[in-house]
Amino acid sequence: MRLILVGPPGAGKGTQAVHLAAHFSIPHISTGDIFRANLKEGTPLGLQAKSYMDKGELVPDSVTNAMVKDRLTHADTANGFLLDGFPRNVAQAEVLRAILAEKKTPIDAALELSIENAEIIKRLSGRRTCRGCGKVFPGQLEKCDACGAELYQRDDDKEEVIARRLEVYAEQTAPIIAFYRHEGLLITIPAVGDVADITAGAIRALSQKLS
Ligand code: AMP
Repeated sequence: MRLILVGPPGAGKGTQAVHLAAHFSIPHISTGDIFRANLKEGTPLGLQAKSYMDKGELVPDSVTNAMVKDRLTHADTANGFLLDGFPRNVAQAEVLRAILAEKKTPIDAALELSIENAEIIKRLSGRRTCRGCGKVFPGQLEKCDACGAELYQRDDDKEEVIARRLEVYAEQTAPIIAFYRHEGLLITIPAVGDVADITAGAIRALSQKLS
């Protein structure tokens, strides 16, 4: 299964991606996680991405597309993958379509997690992320229940940056929903309620689409 997750920041893409990737036994590829890992290690890619990430802006397509193209050559993607946070604009969606057309392995579905802005702001400004494993928590806990590492608030989860990330989503990313609808690949599910119920709804919708 080759799957894309689409949705605004805070829709729960990262959380759902972990469950869906495990269910379908495919790697979870998050461009945001790759940028953050590079930033932590102080690589040139991380340093290049930092100024954009800090402001809630998109990292330039040339950098992001090359990174994803390289990631999709790894052996673990042979039986599919779940892309989380990519594509983030129509130009990236077109590049992805071209990369996959060359390999004759098109996307099977684009799953949109739909949620209201007010709920997003509440979720993002309250959430904490684990410094060790990247797991995301809704509340003000101090330690990760998975690996024990410290939790922190992402710089781009601070209120002023959230507002910009939502604008960037509306202006640049939301148009990919029409793109995938036009390709006949779009599935939309509501992203509110219990995490396990949302995962179950996503699996049901994907299984129906692919049967
Ligand atoms: P995320 O963890 O998906 O919210 O991504 C965090 C940040 O990484 C974004 O606000 C962007 O600055 C950058 N980023 C992640 N994915 C992309 C992408 N596909 N294109 C450009 N920038 C991205």
